[in-house]
Amino acid sequence: MIARLTELLFPRKCILCRSFLGKDETDLCRQCRIDAPEYPFGKKKATHVSEITAVWMYDGDVRRSIQRYKFGTARHYANAYGRLMAMRIQRDLPEFDVITWAPISAGRLRTRGFDQVELLAKAVSAELDIPAEKLLNKFRDNRANSGLSTPAERRANVLGVYKAIDPDRIRGKRVLLLDDVITTGATASECARVLLTAGAEKVYFAAVAAAGTTSYK
Ligand SMILES: [Zn+2]
Repeated sequence: MIARLTELLFPRKCILCRSFLGKDETDLCRQCRIDAPEYPFGKKKATHVSEITAVWMYDGDVRRSIQRYKFGTARHYANAYGRLMAMRIQRDLPEFDVITWAPISAGRLRTRGFDQVELLAKAVSAELDIPAEKLLNKFRDNRANSGLSTPAERRANVLGVYKAIDPDRIRGKRVLLLDDVITTGATASECARVLLTAGAEKVYFAAVAAAGTTSYK
């Protein structure tokens, strides 16, 4: 009854193209399930990261969807992204012990009000029944990596930005690191370096989408 009322008041929409969903459709409309640009497993590589996967390529409706999510007008997308990421992770990645994420800084958290990647980690954790723990802190706001052109600039920009909170919770663990978008892999690589230095056994990585064609090595 309450579910029907909610459905009448807030009809469900496709998270990519925002068309209304039919009764038998969840998260995505039939057309977007066919058309959305799937991430080809193996396309991205990043130093220190054993395997990388993502749901889509970061383009068109996928890009617009993630921007609505990031800037807070579609926070509920976390659950849909979480379901789609969980399927991809189960298909592409080996077993792991704990899920963590590339966090935003305390300052950014105050202005934005939520950590969009933490919400994703919690949604993936619920789907896979594997704990999500905050293992990293971001100490300062670097420039947005998207404004930098070369891999070397991006690498320098994230170096020393993340720190392990408690190595005792990392040592010997196979860690799945999450982010919303992977571009050059500089952030993934730097977070993985910090996790491995703190004693992690392996670091895998998953994102909602992968941008661009360059790989960071
Ligand atoms: Zn759609």
